[in-house]
Parts: sequence; C-alpha cells; structure tokens
Amino acid sequence: MQGNINVQTENIFPVIKKFLYSDHEIFLRELVSNAIDATQKLKALSSRSDFNVDLGDLTVEVKLDEKNTTLTISDRGIGMSSDEVEKYINQIAFSGASDFLEKYKDLQENLIGHFGLGFYSAFMVAEKVEIFTKSYTEAPAVHWSCDGSPSFSMEETAKADRGTDIVLHIDKECKEFLDEQRILQLLRKYCRFMPVPIRFGEESEWVDSETETEEVDDGKGGKTTRPKRVEQKKPRIINNTEPAWCKTPSNLTAEDYKKFYHELYPMNFEDPLFQIHLNVDYPFNLTGILYFPKVRKTIDPNRNKIQLYCNQVYVSESVEGIVPDYLMLLHGVIDSPDIPLNVSRSYLQSDSNVKKISSHISKKVADKLEEMFKNDRKDFEDKWDDIKVFVELGMLNDEDFKKRALKFYLFKNTEGKFYSVKDYRDMIKPLQTDKDKNVCYIYATDNEEQHVHIAKAKAKGYDVLLMDSVLTPHFVNLIEREEDKTRFVRVDAEVTEKLIPHEDAIPEKLTKEEQELLKPIIENEVDKEKYTVTLESLESDEQPIVITQDEWMRRYKEMSAIGGGGFNFYGDMPERYNMVVNINHPLIEQILKEQDTDKQKQLVHQITDLALLANGLLKGENLMAFVKRSLDIIK
Ligand code: ADP
Repeated sequence: MQGNINVQTENIFPVIKKFLYSDHEIFLRELVSNAIDATQKLKALSSRSDFNVDLGDLTVEVKLDEKNTTLTISDRGIGMSSDEVEKYINQIAFSGASDFLEKYKDLQENLIGHFGLGFYSAFMVAEKVEIFTKSYTEAPAVHWSCDGSPSFSMEETAKADRGTDIVLHIDKECKEFLDEQRILQLLRKYCRFMPVPIRFGEESEWVDSETETEEVDDGKGGKTTRPKRVEQKKPRIINNTEPAWCKTPSNLTAEDYKKFYHELYPMNFEDPLFQIHLNVDYPFNLTGILYFPKVRKTIDPNRNKIQLYCNQVYVSESVEGIVPDYLMLLHGVIDSPDIPLNVSRSYLQSDSNVKKISSHISKKVADKLEEMFKNDRKDFEDKWDDIKVFVELGMLNDEDFKKRALKFYLFKNTEGKFYSVKDYRDMIKPLQTDKDKNVCYIYATDNEEQHVHIAKAKAKGYDVLLMDSVLTPHFVNLIEREEDKTRFVRVDAEVTEKLIPHEDAIPEKLTKEEQELLKPIIENEVDKEKYTVTLESLESDEQPIVITQDEWMRRYKEMSAIGGGGFNFYGDMPERYNMVVNINHPLIEQILKEQDTDKQKQLVHQITDLALLANGLLKGENLMAFVKRSLDIIK
C-alpha cells in the first residue's frame, strides 16, 4: 500500500530538520521511551485474566550498524497492527508533529524540554525510517517505510518476534549518530533511569575460568595455582530501572542515598550532607530526592544541577520555576508527569500546578531543617556552615520560608558557639540594650582583620557574632525589620564604648579651647580624603586613636557590590573611615603640650599609624616609613 501522510503543513520534514537543529539528539529519547511505553503497556495487559501471551525477555535493544548506516531501536512490547500503524503513525503522530512545529516556531529556544516530539523526531537525523512491527494479537506483521516526503509505503511482512523495530537510515549530515560512544553518551544522558532494561552492545568483565588454571606468586616466595582470569563479554545494560527516588523512603538506608548521589554525579567525590525524599501524589504527582551539598562559601552553579525527569525519562537540567530560586543550587532529581514540558518558561511559571510544586518543595525543605534542628541540634550545628547560605537566601526570597526559618536559624558567635534567634536575643539583652531600648547585636565579618575591635568588645562583656556570608548586609537588614527594637552594628563601626550608647557621659579632660587647638594638629598629618578626624571623650585606658567605619555607609556599599535594591549609588563612593581621637588619653594630652613641633608631628604620626596598623590599613610606603620611624625612636 502507498499513501500520503495527512499533514497540514506542506512538508514538515524540512521544518523538523531546520527548526530543531540544536536538539537533534533528543530523537533517541523519544524513540526509546516509545519502546518502553509499548513494553509497559504489555506488562499492564498481562495482569488481565484473559491474557495468555508469554512475556519473555522484555529488554529494549539499541543496535548500531555502521556498515549499513542504520540505528535500530527494538522492543518486545505490544507492537502494532496495520490499522494501528495507520492510526497512530500516519494520522496521529504526524498531525501531532505539525501542531508541535507550529507552536515551536513561535517559542523557539524558550521551550523547557522539547518533550513529546514523538516518533517523527526520527526525521531530524534519518533520511529514511522503517518500522517493522508485530502486534501481540494475531494480526500480521507490518513493514512501514517513509523517506522524509509526505508519502509512505506499508505492506505485510514476516517478523518472528512480537514487538517493534524502528530502523533509522542515518542522514549523511548526521554521521555522529553512527558513533558508538556518542550513542552510549546519549543513552546514559536520557535513558539512565528508564523503567525497562535497555541493552546497547556488549561490555567486558573478568571472571574465573571454569576449565583453565594459572600459576601465580603466593606472596611467600612460592607459587600457587588458581583459576585463570578470562575476559567475558556480556550484554551492556545502560540503565538502572529502579532509581532510589522511585523507591519507598522507609526501604532506603543513608548508605543507599549516598550511593545514588554518586550514581547521579559520578564526577563529584564529595558526599552530600543530607537529603529530602519527595513523594506526593495529591494534588499533583511528584517524586524526587533533593540533596544538600557541601558548599561552604563557594558555589559553582554550573556543576551538578538538579535534574528534571518525567516518569523516569530525563528532560533537562533546568528546573527554573519548578524549584524555588533559592534552592537551585541543591543537587538531585525531580520527577513529575504534571509539569507541562513543551511550553515556554514564562508559561511554566504561571502554571498553577508548577506553583504548587514549587511551594511544596519549599515547605518540605523547611520541615526537614526544622526537624534536624529539633532532633539533633549538635549535628545541625555541624552542618550549619554549609546550609546557612540556602537558609539566608530562602529567608530573603520567600516570606513563608522566612517565617519558618526564624525558628531554626542559627547565629554563630566569634567563639564558634551557636544560638537560635530567640535564645541569642535573650542572652544579650541585659548587657547589650542601649539608652533607647534597642537590643544591639554586635557582629564581625572577619575574625582576623577585626581582631582588635572584637577583643575590646569582648573585654566589655559583649558577645560578638561572626557573620561572614556574602549575604550578611542584606540579612542583618532582614532581622532588623523582623524584630522590633533591634540594631546591628559591626564591631568596628564605632569605638567600643559607643557601640551600645548609654546615657552616662565620661567627663572631658580637655577644655573646649584645648580641643579646638588639638584637632588641626592631628588633621594636618592624615589623609583627609580618607579619614574624618573626630574628638571623643572616652575612657582613659581606651586607645588614643581608634579607626571606625560608619555602619550604614559600609552596609550600603556592600549591598551595592552584591547588587540589587537601589544601592548602586553607594558603590561609587570612596572608602571612608573615622579617626576617633580619645581626648582623655594621656598621650593626647602630651601631644597638645609638646612645644617642639617636629617632635609633636612625629608623635601624631606614630599614634595614627599604630591605629591604622591595628585595622590592617597601614600598607606599602606608609608601613615602611612607620617601621623606620619606630626604629629611630628606639635608638
Ligand atoms: P506519543 O508517544 O507521544 O503518543 P508518538 O508520535 O511518539 O507519540 O507515537 C504515536 C503512537 O504510535 C504512540 O502513542 C503509540 O501508540 C504508537 N507507537 C510509537 N512507537 C511505538 C512502539 N515502539 N510500539 C508500539 N506502538 C508505538
């Protein structure tokens, strides 16, 4: 029989080739999943009482014939009768094709998975496609052939086995699909977790021979005889038909989860921290496993992404919109038949199922973290440095998650101790409440660089938090908004005594006139572009000069560096510091009284440099000059 394929578009084949050029490789996924579907359908039928067909070996086979330039996908599934080929291939498959291409022309590269392209995607890589198929019923076998024009031929044929062979005569321009390694790579990418075994060629294994022996060293200087190791060929099965995410969580051990992680990411040798097994069937279907990786401060967003599957068929590595943004850097697998796959990204994000899936994932992550916080606080603290970035991102991006996370967020102080948000506030409240009743949280972003300030704050009995994440400036804003009467101040934003302002002022040792005389003496010796000199009445045992950096100016600058939120203007401002002169310090009094101006200058230089040195701000030539001057003084 000859016939014409019923399509609206004049000739869809050039369109298939042209428009889908970049994604030619997905033909293999489409054809192998058709073979798997046909096999699953047969298995489903076999549970019926009137079914009396021997299932036999159901392995799907992919075969390369380089000489005849063909690639064949064979299954032993339900097969098709000639009526079914007419209906499913000639009518449905091809009208589906033209519909899809119409849509594709508008959406182009925006599509999420190029999914459901179906049988006709074979024409992206083949100049001719043949189908040999025999139904599980009594119907005679059929041979169908089409060379990429809308006409086809179809006739009865002899075929021994039940099932379908799809034979692709690979196009000259698509020779890559005749390369064994390329096909293997594609099968491992798209078919790695499909539910029916898939065989592609053979692989070697080394086994003990049953007949031959060999002599080897026994390790004690002698010889011993043992069965000879011989190479044996065995079918190469490229998939794991029962991946961990499809199993019941209670049947899996921690080891099983780790093993699956390494199966998923063979190039990543680090173990994950913990995982969340997703398993929902109402109001949408979703399974999957999300792993929290060890990230510390550096995250490479391009490695080990979350993989999206649809009924164990690989779709893509982009889960934008499906997984909340702040969890995009997790690892693992999401599998759902309820995610529309050949739609644009913007459509995807407005889809109500997808929205539900995203908030479900967010909720599950919060559940898991809260459970860990409650059940094993020590373990949670050990993992905190790796988890923190996700939690902070989530709190900044998702209102619901923020509310939940305030219960398990951990503050870590410079001594490495952890506190919940509430416990920490209760602890610091008595000593760290200022005259306006604000509870003042003192934090450092670098233990080493801010050491001098940290030590002074601690000496006053204050607790200092270590907040060294890139998100810190945004995050402290969040806590300030969230908790009434709260103020965050970095440990070097003020002289220690002023970090938490109290009422009682310290009596000034210098008169107003003396102060007016003093100020220009100091100012003349420092870089005015960078430092603002202020005089303050501090305890006499506080340093003579302290360098601070205004909390807000610094925070805005940092936020502009991370980007976002209208702080860009601050990014261009030069770095400025306060040089706070303690008018009650004996050395300051000494400077003021010094009659020899050279000596006076030298003293000012020396104490300003010491203050800069304590803050890591004395560098290069200035540092050398300081060392030389210090040596001259000691001489
Ligand atoms: P889809 O798989 O999305 O339905 P396809 O274009 O891939 O669309 O296939 C159309 C139909 O052809 C399938 O629904 C199925 O009925 C039939 N078909 C395709 N491949 C096979 C196969 N290997 N065995 C049996 N039937 C098949």
